[in-house]
Amino acid sequence: MSKVKKVNYIEQAEADFDLRLAMEEATRCLLCEDAPCSKGCPAGTNPAKFIRSIRFKNFKGAAETIRENNILGGSCALVCPYGNLCEEACSRCGIDKPIQIGKLQKFAIDHEKNTDMTILKSGKRIGKKVACIGAGPASLAASPINVVFSGTSVITTAFAPTFA
Ligand code: SF4
Repeated sequence: MSKVKKVNYIEQAEADFDLRLAMEEATRCLLCEDAPCSKGCPAGTNPAKFIRSIRFKNFKGAAETIRENNILGGSCALVCPYGNLCEEACSRCGIDKPIQIGKLQKFAIDHEKNTDMTILKSGKRIGKKVACIGAGPASLAASPINVVFSGTSVITTAFAPTFA
């Protein structure tokens, strides 16, 4: 019996991309000038740009493209319905199958964390406070953005506070 370990393609397909798989997938990208994938993202993320960065091994650039648009890019990489949005719009649908944009986004964010990249830095404190009412995605996203870019303190509440 062969000692060569058989590849479990189903398991591999469901697993996260490692560096080799991410590079292979990014290399399939056609680098479309009109970037239909980016037009298909309601959150304004620019998959064409971060995929191009991955393709040319600019992993920091990829993470920056995702984070600067959406600080919760890692969460979106897990829950976004890509198949109905950017991947459905991908030009490669007309050739074979779309680029796996969601998995590339997750790869870029995981790589950022695993290599301790510094994408966003704290701003200088300016002594201001901001209250975000509600703990939904907008408040959660606004909190670190305010701290990072404007140096304000942000208080996020799950419920609207009552004012006397
Ligand atoms: S539409 Fe598809 S092939 Fe074109 S740039 Fe976007 S991911 Fe690449």
